[in-house]
Amino acid sequence: MSTPNPVISTNFIQSIIDEDNKTGKYGGRVHTRFPPEPNGYLHIGHAKSICLNFGIAAANDGLCNLRFDDTNPSKEDIEYVESIMEDVRWLGFDWDERMFYAADYFEQLYQYAEQLIRSGKAFVCDLTAAQIRDHRGTLVEPGKESPYRNRSVEENLDLFRRMRAGEFPDGSRTLRAKIDMASPNFNMRDPVLYRILRASHHRTGDTWCIYPMYDYAHPISDSIEGITHSVCTLEFEDHRPLYDWVLDALAIYHPQQIEFARLNLTNTVMSKRKLRELVEQSYVSGWDDPRMPTISGLRRRGYTPTAIRDFCDRIGVAKSNSLVDVGLLEHCIREDLNTKASRVMAVLKPLKLVIENYPEDMVEELEAENNSENPEMGTRKIPFSKVIYIEQDDFMENPPKKFFRLTPGQEVRLKHAYIIKCEQVIKDDAGEITELRCTYDPTTKSGESGSARKVKGVLHWVSAAHAISAEVRLYDYLLMDDQTNDDEYNMNPNSLITLSESLVEPSLAQVKPGDKFQFLRQGYFCMDRDSIPGKPVFNRIVGLRDTWAKLQK
Ligand code: ATP
Ligand code: MG
Repeated sequence: MSTPNPVISTNFIQSIIDEDNKTGKYGGRVHTRFPPEPNGYLHIGHAKSICLNFGIAAANDGLCNLRFDDTNPSKEDIEYVESIMEDVRWLGFDWDERMFYAADYFEQLYQYAEQLIRSGKAFVCDLTAAQIRDHRGTLVEPGKESPYRNRSVEENLDLFRRMRAGEFPDGSRTLRAKIDMASPNFNMRDPVLYRILRASHHRTGDTWCIYPMYDYAHPISDSIEGITHSVCTLEFEDHRPLYDWVLDALAIYHPQQIEFARLNLTNTVMSKRKLRELVEQSYVSGWDDPRMPTISGLRRRGYTPTAIRDFCDRIGVAKSNSLVDVGLLEHCIREDLNTKASRVMAVLKPLKLVIENYPEDMVEELEAENNSENPEMGTRKIPFSKVIYIEQDDFMENPPKKFFRLTPGQEVRLKHAYIIKCEQVIKDDAGEITELRCTYDPTTKSGESGSARKVKGVLHWVSAAHAISAEVRLYDYLLMDDQTNDDEYNMNPNSLITLSESLVEPSLAQVKPGDKFQFLRQGYFCMDRDSIPGKPVFNRIVGLRDTWAKLQK
C-alpha cells in the first residue's frame, strides 16, 4: 500500500493500538476502514477521517478497507460512489482489492436478524414511526414497551419473513431489538433494526424491500471484514453500547469502536446535507465548485493532495470538538506551492501604459527566473515592448502617503525590466484614466550593471502585443462569518468575482487545466477546466498574505 505521510504522531488512537498490541488483543493486527455513505461528495472533514484511517493502518503495517455504507437507498447514488473512489485515490490512498459495500452483506445481515429473533432478542413491531417516537420516553422518564414486544419466536419469524417477501406496506412494521425501554441511553430503548422501504438500491435494485438500519449494519459489517479498530466521529459515542450489544447478542467477532472529534472549519459548511442544498439551490455551480469544501471543489480550486494531507496531520486527532481556522488550510497550500509553482506575470485589471522613449518596433526578450525560492526551476524569456499593461490598482493620480507604486512623477521598477517614470495621465470624457504615458531609463535593465539603482516600488506587467487574454476567478469564503447557528447561514454575496479582461504573459500559452502558478504579487492560481483555446480561465487558489502564519508569531 502506498501511503505517504502516515500518521505516526502519537494520538490517543495510536495509544489504544499500542496497548492492544501489548495485550495481544487482536493478535497484533491493525485493520481499519473508511466507511462513507454514498449520498454526496466527500468534503475536507472526510479527508481527516481518510488520512486517519489509512494513516493508522500504514503506520502499523495494517490494512484499511474502503466500505460504502449504503443501507439507505433513498438518498444514495452510483455517481457518489464513483466520486468517492476518485477522491480517496487522488488523496493518495489505496484500498487494493478491499472495496466493499454494506449492501453486499444484506443476506447475511438478514440471517443474523433471524438469529436474534430465534434467541428472543428481536421482535416485529406494528407501531408506526410516530407511535414508536411517542413510546420512547424522555431523559427523565423511561419509555413504554411496545404491545408487540412479547410475540412468540414463531410469530416473529413468520412476520419478519413476510416483511421480506413484501406482504406489508412501507412503514407498517419494523424489526426491533429487545433491549431495555428504561435504559438511560435512548439508543438502547428497543431500537429499530429493519424497516420496510420500497426503494431501488443502486446495487441490489428491487431485491429488497426491507433495509437494515445503520446501527445494526455497521457493527456487523465491521465484524465480517475483521476490522480491529472502528474509528468514527464523536456523535456515535452514545451508539457504542448498541454497537457492542449487536455483536455480543450474535456472539460474533467483536471489533472496538473508537470515537474522535470531527473537523469543523471557520467560514465553512461541512455536512453533505447542507452542501447538497447549496448545489440544489444553485448557490454554487456544482459539487466541485471551487468554493466548495468538497475534495473535488478543493482539487478544482487548485489544492494539492500534499497540502490536504499536511493539513490533516497538523490538526491532529482529539477527543473534544473544536473549530479549526480555515487559514491553516490556506497556509498548507501556500507552503506546498511556494517551492513548486512558477512565478509568472498576470495583470488582472489592466491599465494601458505607453513608454514614449522606447523604440516603436523593438521587442526585447528578458530573462526571468521561474522561482526565486527554487533556482532549479530555471528561467524563461518574457517579451518587453513599447506598449504594456499594468494593474489599475498600481497607479494613483493623487496618492496617499506611503503609496510606493506608480504616481505622476514617481519612479517604479517594472519587474525583470526597467525603471519607468509617469509623465502624463490620459482620461476619457467621463474622467476615467484610460492610459499612462511614461518614459524609461535604458540604463536600468534588470540583471545588468545599471540595475543597482533602487526604487521603492516593483510592478508586474505584460506586453500588450504578446499578452494572452484570460478570465480570472477570485474566490472568497462562501459563508460570511463564523457560523453560530447550525441551520441558518449567512451567505457571502461576493464569494465569486469574475474578471474577464485579464491578461497573462505569453509563456502561459501552453498550460493545461490543473497547472498551478504564482501570479506575482497576486497569489496562487490554477487553470480551470472551463478554459477554451485562446481564453484560459484561472482560479485563485489563495492570496499571498498568510493571516494564519502571522497569528502564530
Ligand atoms: P456528513 O454529516 O457530512 O454527511 P457523515 O458522517 O454523515 O458526514 P459519512 O459518509 O457517514 O458522512 O462519513 C464517512 C466517515 O467520515 C465517517 O466515519 C464519519 O465519521 C467521517 N466524517 C464525516 N464528517 C467528518 C468530519 N467533519 N470530520 C471528521 N470525520 C468526518
Ligand atoms: Mg452520515
